[in-house]
Amino acid sequence: MKLLLERFSSRLHETPYTAEVILETGAKINIDRANVDAVRADLIIDVPDDKVERVAELFRQKGVKVRKLLKLIAWDEERCIHCGACISVCPTGVFKFDSSWNISMEEEKCVRCEVCVKACPLGALALACVENEVT
Ligand code: SF4
Ligand code: SF4
Repeated sequence: MKLLLERFSSRLHETPYTAEVILETGAKINIDRANVDAVRADLIIDVPDDKVERVAELFRQKGVKVRKLLKLIAWDEERCIHCGACISVCPTGVFKFDSSWNISMEEEKCVRCEVCVKACPLGALALACVENEVT
């Protein structure tokens, strides 16, 4: 499962929090994406399902806001014209054509970079809301 870690202070890069959580839990955590600016850093991490609760608990103890990303990208199939633009731009290969030349998705590959949202000519893609999915 993917977790969104929010509101790191800008000084957290001085402490290896993620490394500490990996060592404490033994979880094989993959960092899918990191947004860092002067005041905060948000991470999207991929965590084995059997370690999610423990990993989330440890990050919370370290002052990090943790949200479960139950849904990553919202695709409005009614609007989609299967043009393939999203296939071209997605850096992680979420989209592909099926045998009928219709778009299909492997949503678990999504890192929420938003590139496809901007590229879709029909506005058929959007980042999925995570507001109510706090661990
Ligand atoms: S870019 Fe938009 S309209 Fe084109 S295939 Fe992807 S989702 Fe459908
Ligand atoms: S948000 Fe980024 S990673 Fe996710 S489907 Fe769109 S282009 Fe691919």
